[in-house]
Amino acid sequence: MKKIIPISALDALQSQTTNAPLPSVLNQPTGVLQDSRSRLLHDLRISVTDRCNFRCPYCMPKEIFTSDYNYLGQKELLSFEEITRLSQIFIAHGVKKIRLTGGEPLLRKGIENLVRMLSPLQTLEQTPIDLTLTTNGSLLKKKVQALKDSGLKRITVSLDGIDDVSFRKMNDVDFAVRDVLDSIEAAVQVGFESVKVNMVVKKGVNDHEILPMIKHFRNTGVIVRFIEYMDVGNTNGWQMNEVLPSRQVIEKIQNQYPLIPIDPDYPGEVAQRWKMSDGSGEIGVISSVTETFCHTCTRARISMEGKLFLCLFANQGYDLKALLRSNANDLAISNAIAQIWRSRNDRYSELRTEIQQGKIYHPKVEMSYIGG
Ligand code: SAM
Ligand code: SF4
Ligand code: SF4
Repeated sequence: MKKIIPISALDALQSQTTNAPLPSVLNQPTGVLQDSRSRLLHDLRISVTDRCNFRCPYCMPKEIFTSDYNYLGQKELLSFEEITRLSQIFIAHGVKKIRLTGGEPLLRKGIENLVRMLSPLQTLEQTPIDLTLTTNGSLLKKKVQALKDSGLKRITVSLDGIDDVSFRKMNDVDFAVRDVLDSIEAAVQVGFESVKVNMVVKKGVNDHEILPMIKHFRNTGVIVRFIEYMDVGNTNGWQMNEVLPSRQVIEKIQNQYPLIPIDPDYPGEVAQRWKMSDGSGEIGVISSVTETFCHTCTRARISMEGKLFLCLFANQGYDLKALLRSNANDLAISNAIAQIWRSRNDRYSELRTEIQQGKIYHPKVEMSYIGG
């Protein structure tokens, strides 16, 4: 068992933030921002809450995330107006895709109103922004129509097993799988352009659910993606021997359902995609641990309290909320973001082995804080 960092240390880590720098000479955004490793800014992930009604042990283990946990208060969260303003500034830097996440984003009151504010935004090429949302599906059935009516076009539902016993073990709050399956069916019925299901695979825990997941979602139009279990945060006790490499996931599926590789949707897409040769569906794998993709990582992340993180495994956030709530105008905030992105050098996954071996000290923020 790995050492678990106590909450107080985590709190200290999360508050150890650097104020976003304000350059003295301000430039207009050009729509292209490159970091120090020539990676373009393309995607923005916005976490809207640090709270969740599940306690997936790989993300929010219930022994740590108790009711006494130091969650943020309502006033500390970015308002929908602030999120929209920041999104517009990021779009001016070339962002084309925005994902709402959390914690559980559907716990944020009036989330459909935020979707309504973001969905009309356009990229610099005057195409609609690719707006999507990741949810655990527990509240989706109730919200699905409102989200669709507010302009959401795509949705991803996390589901770590199709068998009720396995699923309850994965969410650790005894939530029934039927309710999430109903939500996914409702999402298909309501007519989203794309419905994806993400399954985190933990070796020896839920890997027996891989084939049943495929069987269940074949011929439904739902794309299932298998994600390698990652060492996010400090509390999940991650060990390399619990990771099932995507290569083995594909081999397992190939034995039963022959697969043909397909091209990524866009450069930097994290999932490797495959279609089933009988035309019954598409699947994907995300190999964050065994085949790292830091060299094409184009994602920035904003935490629910407005801190900008440049990597899922970052230990430092830049306080954009402080800028938003000061007198800084859009151009000043835009320049601060540009300066931060240009200096970005993150590549945690490429350094994972050394970090895990303790050769490099690298504390991290929690996944539920930064969003997936
Ligand atoms: N609560 C929502 C959900 O579960 O879909 C959104 C937030 S959750 C942090 C976003 C994604 O991160 C989910 O698909 C979840 O399975 C994934 N995730 C969380 N912890 C992970 C881990 N240790 N390794 C791999 N994926 C993880
Ligand atoms: Fe909640 Fe999502 Fe984390 Fe599970 S993965 S605990 S549903 S935030
Ligand atoms: Fe991107 Fe960081 Fe993940 Fe590498 S480890 S792919 S830089 S988020």
